[in-house]
Amino acid sequence: MTDVIEKTPERSLNFIEEIVEADLASGKYTGIITRFPPEPNGYLHIGHAKSICLNFGLAKKYGGSTNLRFDDTNPTKEDVEYVDSIKEDVRWLGFQWAEERYASDYFGQLYEWAIALIKKGLAYVDDQTQEEIRTGRGAVTRPGEESPFRNRSVEENLDLFIRMKNGEFKDGEKVLRAKIDMAHPNMLLRDPILYRILHTDHHRTGHTWCIYPMYDYAHGQSDSIEHVTHSICTLEFDVHRPLYDWFIEKLEIFPSRQYEFARLNLTYTIMSKRKLLELVKSGYVRDWDDPRMPTICGLRRRGYTPESIRLFAEKVGVAKRDNVIDLSLLEWCVREDLNKRANRYMAVLKPVKVVITNYPEGQVEELDAINNPEDESAGKRKIPFSREVYIERDDFMENPPKKYFRLSPGNEVRLKYAYIIKCETVIKDALGNITELHCTYDPATRSGSENNRQVKGAIHWVSAPQAATAQVQLFDRLFTEAHMDNIPEGKDYKNFLNPDSLQTLTAFVEPALKNLPPSTHVQFERLGYFVTDKESARDNPVFNRTVTLKDTWAKVATKN
Ligand code: ATP
Ligand code: MG
Repeated sequence: MTDVIEKTPERSLNFIEEIVEADLASGKYTGIITRFPPEPNGYLHIGHAKSICLNFGLAKKYGGSTNLRFDDTNPTKEDVEYVDSIKEDVRWLGFQWAEERYASDYFGQLYEWAIALIKKGLAYVDDQTQEEIRTGRGAVTRPGEESPFRNRSVEENLDLFIRMKNGEFKDGEKVLRAKIDMAHPNMLLRDPILYRILHTDHHRTGHTWCIYPMYDYAHGQSDSIEHVTHSICTLEFDVHRPLYDWFIEKLEIFPSRQYEFARLNLTYTIMSKRKLLELVKSGYVRDWDDPRMPTICGLRRRGYTPESIRLFAEKVGVAKRDNVIDLSLLEWCVREDLNKRANRYMAVLKPVKVVITNYPEGQVEELDAINNPEDESAGKRKIPFSREVYIERDDFMENPPKKYFRLSPGNEVRLKYAYIIKCETVIKDALGNITELHCTYDPATRSGSENNRQVKGAIHWVSAPQAATAQVQLFDRLFTEAHMDNIPEGKDYKNFLNPDSLQTLTAFVEPALKNLPPSTHVQFERLGYFVTDKESARDNPVFNRTVTLKDTWAKVATKN
């Protein structure tokens, strides 16, 4: 995968950039304004990150600006908790909005425009039940039927709509509909609902309103109020575009234009906020920021960096057709970034003790270790070495196959930054479990010394007396199925939760890892990139594995 990506030539313009450049060249606009319009009903996920990078990235590239607009037209599901988290996540990704807006700020203007539509004979109050309205719409193959209330006079409609607003009717008793065409081939234009009655407090407007605009009516007009030039949304909204344009035309307001791109799907995960909320509420994950979640706060806690997510958005590009991106691309991006910035350390996750029998008891040496071979300015540090060290259990084999270059009875291996050791005796308990390995070392082989001998294998280790313990959390994919967008009929997505997505270990780590501040990125040599958890405490560090060093899944997949 690495090769393929690195050979990709400089990207040409994506189709939205082409549109923007044409609009600027023709003088249609002198500058561009985009917006990112989340509904504050959940935490942002990697799909939103794609949209954020696209909207903010376009404005940045063409010297325009981007508004952050909360699409808060549905008071029953929205909350300030979500507003705050969304702002934090957008900032963390590295973007600054020009203005913070709320669709609810426009409720007054939207109401005025509804009155204007009624006065033009383009909207009417309908008393039908939700069910009647639904069946009256007809089907794709069959035209709808006009509501018996469709031909009310302008005066009657005005009176009823004002009374709807004044709270004279109960939820569901009446709606305001646009008067378009009940036989329109696009079902969304068969007299769409503009307003419904909801006697519910809104997180920002309180009980000022008891009628709330529908998405289609609010969204385009909000764009227009903000003079958004390019309103970018996901493909499923392409059927909404004629309605978007209809309102702009009939209201004679600023002509924002909608463009659609493919939504991001990732293998082994889900992006629906409703389902993510369910995972949190029912305790399948610990919270929205559980490091297994595809949420931005989950990725952050997992150790993803803003740079890695922006790189991912760039690599994914802007497509016009829906597709599913391989999770390994996201992992590749974070490795790319952390390789440059994460200092290397040694940690042993599944330890076995090695006693170096010819090393003087009580002696401790301070050895030089390089912090980051990719970054000379990161410098060096000292690591203690003594008679007893821990190595990974997996780095020893009692009966090794040919070409096994790690430790085995009678064989040598290098302890990185230290000496070559040779395994002399394997110590076992009464049950036959290995408890210790007794080795000898060759004092002439200290790393960095002249005329040093070479052996084929080098392994990591931690000096036992100085080692600190740390909690280490290893994560695996949240779902066992790659194409969660395509699970078999009748199966619940929860049937595919990976029962082994979290493994917690107590590891031995070198002393320098004891006191790192939360959210510090490190590489454990040979094991992967890790980050100190946001709740990691001094003397009781908690490390989350961000990603392994190599894509182990790719290998497994090709073997199968
Ligand atoms: P959900 O259906 O899970 O509630 P949503 O698409 O309704 O998600 P919004 O808060 O309305 O979520 O989305 C805000 C913006 O982010 C929209 O412009 C939407 O198109 C975009 N977006 C949401 N999900 C994705 C995705 N998977 N890929 C790209 N853009 C996305
Ligand atoms: Mg939405």
